Amino acid sequence: MQTSIPASVLATPKGQEAERILRKCVHCGFCNATCPTYQLLGNELDGPRGRIYLMKEVLEGNRPTHRTLTHLDRCLTCRACETTCPSGVEYGRLVDIGREFTEKEVRRPWTERLVRFALRQGFVRPMLVRLALLAGRLLRPLLPSGLRRMIPPARRAGRRPAGRHRRRMLVLSGCVQRAAEPRINAAAARVFDRLGISLVRARGEGCCGAIDHHLNASGRALARMRRNIDAWWPFIESGAEALIVTASGCGAVVREYGHLLRDDPAYAEKAARVSSLARDPGEAVAEALAADEMALDRLGLDGRRPRVAFHAPCTLSHGLRAAGAVEGVLDRCGFERVPVADAHLCCGSAGTWSMLEPALSKRLLERKVEALERGGPEVIATANIGCLLHLRRRAHQPVVHWIELLDPAASRTRP
Ligand code: SF4
Ligand code: SF4
Repeated sequence: MQTSIPASVLATPKGQEAERILRKCVHCGFCNATCPTYQLLGNELDGPRGRIYLMKEVLEGNRPTHRTLTHLDRCLTCRACETTCPSGVEYGRLVDIGREFTEKEVRRPWTERLVRFALRQGFVRPMLVRLALLAGRLLRPLLPSGLRRMIPPARRAGRRPAGRHRRRMLVLSGCVQRAAEPRINAAAARVFDRLGISLVRARGEGCCGAIDHHLNASGRALARMRRNIDAWWPFIESGAEALIVTASGCGAVVREYGHLLRDDPAYAEKAARVSSLARDPGEAVAEALAADEMALDRLGLDGRRPRVAFHAPCTLSHGLRAAGAVEGVLDRCGFERVPVADAHLCCGSAGTWSMLEPALSKRLLERKVEALERGGPEVIATANIGCLLHLRRRAHQPVVHWIELLDPAASRTRP
């Protein structure tokens, strides 16, 4: 794609990066075929090719309107287009830059600014999430059914194994998941313990920065990333083999730390190392099963395995590029997996997007749940807390994180 971005923009690292990405796009439109919002709305400007064109216009100095912002806001940043693109256009990075440039020119109405601020403040504080859940549980009978089903029952996380193994990996506790479903990381610690690996938590770590990053508060997001790196660094220096992130939405952002902090001389090298260590548990368990033929026995899975429909989050498939890893683990562990049509399409959660675009989100959720339930599963499993809570709003089966299916305490938790 030809561009005429002014020299003042090209003088900046973001301007250079955007130009490099834009030049790769050949307008073929293949990406529209896998874009959820293009499929729903059928408007070129609500597909990746149209959005790329809009961002090019903004970067070239044409003043964006509120309409430009609306088309960019409707993008879920699912990055399905990135996986589809034959030219290697890094759409996810481009849309981050495009949104930043657009928001500098277009002032949002105060109501939108307030909602975004509240989302950024509320979700990153586990204590606030816990309080909201407590209120939700108390008021459950009065809530609309979709919201009621989203509120997880208070479940005990169960005992975490002592750190007894020489092999150690860090684990991100996170914010929303820690409060809403503490059982997930506890289950991961028990599974990894069986595999001969102790998962350790670093004091001082917190939100990965995804919520601020996706809501265009990049300064705050980078501050959260630096704080996490500081918390993890002593463990990395003393030999932690990997950083396990059980929410793929967070994992995809931690994988980007190296890129996002590349211009920070104090953190660039450490951030790149952290990104190289970030692993979804699906990748790490698959590696452990491949490396040791006795590992499967050590997991101690017994009893009948339920029939599973697996929803692969976009952040796992298109962000972390780990498509197939979890499915491979479930197959190896003897679970019967039902086929899921249009598995590449987003469920409509996309972090805070479902709250900012509720009508579109609902339509995507309905399609996704219908596809997941068509094969008659007994349980729906996924790999990201946002998708998990979102799917529960409509699903008729239990929705769990897949690592819970491997949990040695599963006799009490397996549906
Ligand atoms: S598929 Fe890639 S090259 Fe083709 S229009 Fe989409 S982004 Fe551009
Ligand atoms: S990131 Fe997802 S929603 Fe956004 S343009 Fe690409 S495919 Fe469409």
